[in-house]
Amino acid sequence: MRVVKTINALREEITAVKRKQQSIGFVPTMGYLHEGHMSLIEEARRQHDIVVLSIFVNPLQFGPNEDLERYPRDFVRDENIAKELGVDLLFYPDTKEMYPADPSMTIHVTEGVNVLCGKSRPGHFDGVTTVVMKLFMLVQPDQAYFGQKDAQQVAIITNMVDMFNIPVEVIPCPTVREEDGLAKSSRNVYLTDEERQEAPLIYQVLTQARSLIKEGELSPSEIVQFVKKELNSLQHAKMDYVELLTYPKLMPVTEKDKTILLAVAYIFKHARLIDNIIVSKGE
Ligand code: AMP
Repeated sequence: MRVVKTINALREEITAVKRKQQSIGFVPTMGYLHEGHMSLIEEARRQHDIVVLSIFVNPLQFGPNEDLERYPRDFVRDENIAKELGVDLLFYPDTKEMYPADPSMTIHVTEGVNVLCGKSRPGHFDGVTTVVMKLFMLVQPDQAYFGQKDAQQVAIITNMVDMFNIPVEVIPCPTVREEDGLAKSSRNVYLTDEERQEAPLIYQVLTQARSLIKEGELSPSEIVQFVKKELNSLQHAKMDYVELLTYPKLMPVTEKDKTILLAVAYIFKHARLIDNIIVSKGE
């Protein structure tokens, strides 16, 4: 595995790969790798000649009061994991390399951002799409792998690829969970023992709601009320949002909609956790 820290070095590597007409699978991350990231890398490994992993904690997608400085980092551990999983190229730029000056332009997302994380993290998806666009231009992958845990991110990046006719296929991958159902996240390390103990309730309630959605007896607002009521018993977290939307359009749900996203965010003392399920009615 080669580790490259500069754009010039990355370009040289990618040019060589393209010359050999090898296919590229790309996994963009912010590092502190866990089994969720690993599942994306493994999928890319199965599908492609060359696997490129990027690790970059992107300041553009953090709000002024968010956890940019405290975001967990462990490059040596990440490097070993990447090597073991058969990554060919690890792109690990610093902030100056990606943004030598304050960005003079960014992508501004106008659809699908007035809901879920877009609503509570203004500007977040402008930052995400801007860095992903830059990474797509640099890595020029055939396919890029994203976790369904960040369902809004998958929807918006898919939209970006369509909007700008980017020749990259976005591959959504299922959420990887702890044995007790908690979605794996780099931020889980911030949970206190007590918070960690009650956090699996989030997925338990989502699973109960899945059955209710499939049964079709309750209206969308009744489903949302059910989830809010059940998760009200979290002692150490307060609700950010509970929303039921169409997927991937992220619009209000009507009777006719078949594919539905139920997504939640809860704020613990030092970690904001998100999770979701996508339910196909009538299956
Ligand atoms: P991050 O490092 O948090 O930016 O995540 C990098 C990629 O890993 C994103 O596409 C995430 O959606 C994905 N990811 C994060 N957690 C999980 C998980 N538990 N299961 C599957 N994919 C995940």
